[in-house]
Amino acid sequence: MDFAFNPEQELLRTTLAAFAGRELAPHYAARDQGTDLPRDLVRRLGAMGLLAPMVPVEYGGQALDYVSTGIAFEEISRADINAGYVLLLSALVGAIVMARGDDRQKHAMLPAICAGDVVTALAVTEPSGGSDAAHVKLAARREGDGYTLEGEKSGISLASWADTAIIMARTGTYDQGAHGVSAFYVDLHSPGISRSRLKDLGTRAIGRGQLFFDGVRVPAAARIGAEGAGFVQVMQGFDFSRSLIGLMCLATAQQSVDESCKYVADRQVFGGSLARFEGVSFPLAEAAVKLRAARLLCYEALWLKDQGKPHGWVAAGAKWWAPELAAQVLHQCLLLHGHLGFTMDLPHQQRMRDVIGLEIGDGTAQIMKLLVARAIIGDTARGY
Ligand SMILES: Cc1cc2nc3c(=O)[nH]c(=O)nc-3n(C[C@H](O)[C@H](O)[C@H](O)COP(=O)(O)OP(=O)(O)OC[C@H]3O[C@@H](n4cnc5c(N)ncnc54)[C@H](O)[C@@H]3O)c2cc1C
Repeated sequence: MDFAFNPEQELLRTTLAAFAGRELAPHYAARDQGTDLPRDLVRRLGAMGLLAPMVPVEYGGQALDYVSTGIAFEEISRADINAGYVLLLSALVGAIVMARGDDRQKHAMLPAICAGDVVTALAVTEPSGGSDAAHVKLAARREGDGYTLEGEKSGISLASWADTAIIMARTGTYDQGAHGVSAFYVDLHSPGISRSRLKDLGTRAIGRGQLFFDGVRVPAAARIGAEGAGFVQVMQGFDFSRSLIGLMCLATAQQSVDESCKYVADRQVFGGSLARFEGVSFPLAEAAVKLRAARLLCYEALWLKDQGKPHGWVAAGAKWWAPELAAQVLHQCLLLHGHLGFTMDLPHQQRMRDVIGLEIGDGTAQIMKLLVARAIIGDTARGY
């Protein structure tokens, strides 16, 4: 067993840590104002090879392994988790197109995503439900040489400014459930599409929002994979991303733990350092151990993915545990800063609000636990 990053991975980590500390961290507080991430930042992330990095070189990617991809997610999110979302959505969409697209689609779609010229999103959730993703209602009617999309997506990361999205749409009947759903790669600037932005608690720079489709025409060539196979494809794509989401949240919390350790060591009260009280140092000790354990779980899932081994329930477990743990740790860091922690001047409150979103996004804790239970108990634990 070897827990160490290899020399290339260690170089990636230190290079990105320096970049993120210099270029992202100073702007993190401003990202809370609700304006989109700058386009030139997205292109810069693309130029650094961080967008859909697992995509092969011939399609514009870096052919990066998943553990290294996790390192990139950690170092970027430690400074600004909003930027981590751009990495996440490009990785998800890139992986889906790579796995299910034909060669023409890969050449047409992937280089622009990898370069950051196109900001892409993934739209599954609808007003009628997100957990029950197999029952999406947005309709894709076959008409002539293409499809017409009619309906609504809700709660979609990057929706208010993305250029493209994979849209999960119903091509079959409602009763067919997951088997009546297809995936389409849609230009969000197409006629008939409108958007609105949600007023979110955190990660405001990602512009989560609604997408409305009113008779939107898409060519048949926009369909990724076979008709009716969309849901299964996207669910497979979600597996590895759950570990990446875990790392995004843990890195965000780790930054606050590091800052809190310094704060309690420096602060003088009752004639000495605040850190000498176990009521102060033990919560940080506990946070350090729990974050480390959850981080290992995330990396184990990515390592399994790199080995081509099953990793589904491990990644689902990471997606449940890591955001919840990160939110708890950030709450504790906020409290350890006393009244200052309660001000908007310190970042712990922003980080805590930011990670809470990922307790919900990409599947809630309950849904993740259902997946774990089903894997370890079997289909009798299916629940629905
Ligand atoms: C920050 C953020 C980013 C997001 N980004 C995206 C995105 O990019 N693309 C996208 O498609 N969606 C996105 N979403 C939406 C997200 O995936 C859904 O909100 C989520 O799947 C839950 O769906 P819902 O909101 O409809 O809640 P519901 O499905 O209505 O669930 C409500 C509550 O009931 C619980 N529940 C539901 N079913 C069960 C069950 N069978 N057993 C036990 N408990 C259950 C849930 O856990 C939850 O607590 C995002 C959400 C957030 C907050």
